[in-house]
Amino acid sequence: MTHGGTLNLDLHSHSTFSDGVLTPAELVLRAKSNGVSALALTDHDNVDGLAQAADAAAGHDLRFIPGVEVSATWRETTIHIVGLGVDPHNEMLRDGLRHVRSSRARRAIRIAAELDRAGIGDSLEGAYAYAENRELISRTHFARFLVSRGYAADVKSVFHHYLVPGKPGYVAHDWCAVADAVQWIRASGGLAVIAHPGRYKLTRGEMTELLETFKTAGGAGIEVITGSHSPEQYGEYARRAQEFELLASRGSDFHSPKEARVDLGQLPDLPKGLKPVWQELA
Ligand code: AMP
Ligand code: MN
Ligand code: MN
Ligand code: MN
Repeated sequence: MTHGGTLNLDLHSHSTFSDGVLTPAELVLRAKSNGVSALALTDHDNVDGLAQAADAAAGHDLRFIPGVEVSATWRETTIHIVGLGVDPHNEMLRDGLRHVRSSRARRAIRIAAELDRAGIGDSLEGAYAYAENRELISRTHFARFLVSRGYAADVKSVFHHYLVPGKPGYVAHDWCAVADAVQWIRASGGLAVIAHPGRYKLTRGEMTELLETFKTAGGAGIEVITGSHSPEQYGEYARRAQEFELLASRGSDFHSPKEARVDLGQLPDLPKGLKPVWQELA
């Protein structure tokens, strides 16, 4: 995809510090060769990969934006809040993320027990074998284990048959409040952005209420162009951005060269008439 001289910003990506398969330095290199002009690393619930990514980006003349993707819960639905331009040394952010991370190990044990009940053994060790950062054990690691054992053809199809509500290996989980995630991001100097809104199983009315809660908490932006959205959803969330006067973001949510539907930087431009979140990033 060409960008006709416009900036190619990718503001959502993952490394081995969460459930991505590339190290921060490898991710930066891939972004550079894909023509990305500015990259945000937004690992789940931690900021530990940001220093490595920043160093690599400096060496490749790539603009780097320190980020994070916080797992939150709103009325029993998991909502991801991306923070952009965060300070990884901020104590309030670090304490909040530590708290969110701390429940992952216990959840993993419960997921494995549910898979056991469905006749799928050894999944706890199996998932951890894929988790380079053990603190960040995630459903993606369970998904990779299930693919390796032939339970699904690929990670994406795992999430149709396992690990989601009503399917084997699902457990309900309480992360943190949306308002807390927004507050920690703001305290560290970042902008809070609702990640991939089209992925949440919410009615239109519920989405309106979520966006009201998010705005009231100090939320600044919304992902309009993401690897998770269909072209219709680009339009739908562009309208939501305007309705709620939210800045618009664009990010691939890249995790792995083998699993990616959308590679780093390979996304349409933001629709006209929206205010890009990167204009507010110092
Ligand atoms: P967790 O934070 O442990 O609940 O894991 C959530 C992660 O699972 C997401 O960040 C994605 O990487 C992955 N995931 C969830 N749903 C899907 C899906 N439908 N297809 C591919 N990956 C998914
Ligand atoms: Mn992920
Ligand atoms: Mn997400
Ligand atoms: Mn993500």
